Formats: sequence, structure tokens, C-alpha cells
Amino acid sequence: MQALQQKIRDEGSVLSEQVLKVDAFLNHQIDPRLMQQIGHEFALRFRDQGITKIVTIEASGIAPAVMAGLELGVPVIFARKYQSITMSENLLTSTVFSFTKQTESTIAISAKHLTAADHVLVIDDFLANGHAAKALIDLIEQSGASIAGIGVVIEKSFQRGRAELDALGFRVESLARISSLANGQVSFID
Ligand code: 5GP
Repeated sequence: MQALQQKIRDEGSVLSEQVLKVDAFLNHQIDPRLMQQIGHEFALRFRDQGITKIVTIEASGIAPAVMAGLELGVPVIFARKYQSITMSENLLTSTVFSFTKQTESTIAISAKHLTAADHVLVIDDFLANGHAAKALIDLIEQSGASIAGIGVVIEKSFQRGRAELDALGFRVESLARISSLANGQVSFID
């Protein structure tokens, strides 16, 4: 997606060979027009797949997921992150290792929002080593729902998440694919 690549070039900053900072338009300040284009692009790629729900993870997945939900006309659920679960509500839970915080946390979705009849599109802001995506897949599979695919705004293709999700047989659609962050430069695939 050209507009996204241009935005990353113009406003992204390379923090290390592993980490890209995009808090000018995605992770802190949000560019609504770009999010709308992102939602439109996800909807184009997953149209006619019979999607009934979108699932993402708080906080940075919410903006692109809501825009995709608006375009596809389906509800959006965001998994919540907890240090420990004390809620008595009926929850689907999984654990996720955070790439940015380097800590493990529990994520949860209320079981009432997903059923075996649902066909789910997973959306997240970044795909790095695939921990967040796999934890979301785990939650969704606990509900009996099926998974149409995974939509990622920015994929760092040099980390192992993409290959692992491919190997598990999931359809992954990434709107920007980064092949390298070496020497402070962002290099894209395509
Ligand atoms: P994974 O679970 O695939 O290893 O990492 C994905 C999660 O970590 C995303 O939800 C995102 O919040 C965060 N993340 C991974 N890589 C980056 C990065 O380079 N920059 C930022 N801002 N977040 C990242």
C-alpha cells in the first residue's frame, strides 16, 4: 500500500535493527485518513470471505481494526491485557510475550462475544515474531470460531512471525512489508 509506505518513510523512525517507531500516525498520534485507507484496503482483501467479527488486541490494533470493521460492516472485539486476571466473568484467555515490553501478559476476551458460528479476521498493527497473533488465534479457537486470516498493518518480514503463520496455514495480508531496518533505513518488499 503506497500511501502507508510513504508515511513510514516520511514519519517513521528506526530505533534499532529490530524496532520501527510509528507513534506519529499509528501507535500514539493517529492519522484518521490513513486509518480509513487501511480499513478500506483490509476490506478489499477480505471481502466475500463471510467474515462476521474482527478481533484485535489493545491498544494499537484498535484503530485499524475499527476502520476495517466499518468497511466490512462487522463488530470489532479487542482483547484486553491484564497483569493477572481477577474478573469472574466467563473469559477466554491466553498468554502473550510482548515484543516491545519484553514481558508476558494475559490477554482475554469475554466468551459471550465469540461463538462457533463466527468467522474471524484478526488484525494487528505490527507482525514481528508472531506472539500476539498466535495468542489471538488461540483465544478465537477456544471459542470454536474459525479464522479467515490475519491482517497486519506493518510486517517486519525479517522476523519469524510471517513464516510461522504461513507454516500454520493461515492467510496473512500485510499492507507494508519491511525486509530490513539495517543502517537506520527502512527497506520494503515490493
Ligand atoms: P509479535 O507479537 O509479532 O512479536 O509483535 C507484535 C506486537 O509487538 C504488536 O502488537 C506491536 O504492538 C508490537 N511490535 C512489534 N514490533 C514492533 C515495532 O517495530 N514497533 C512497534 N511500535 N511495535 C512493535
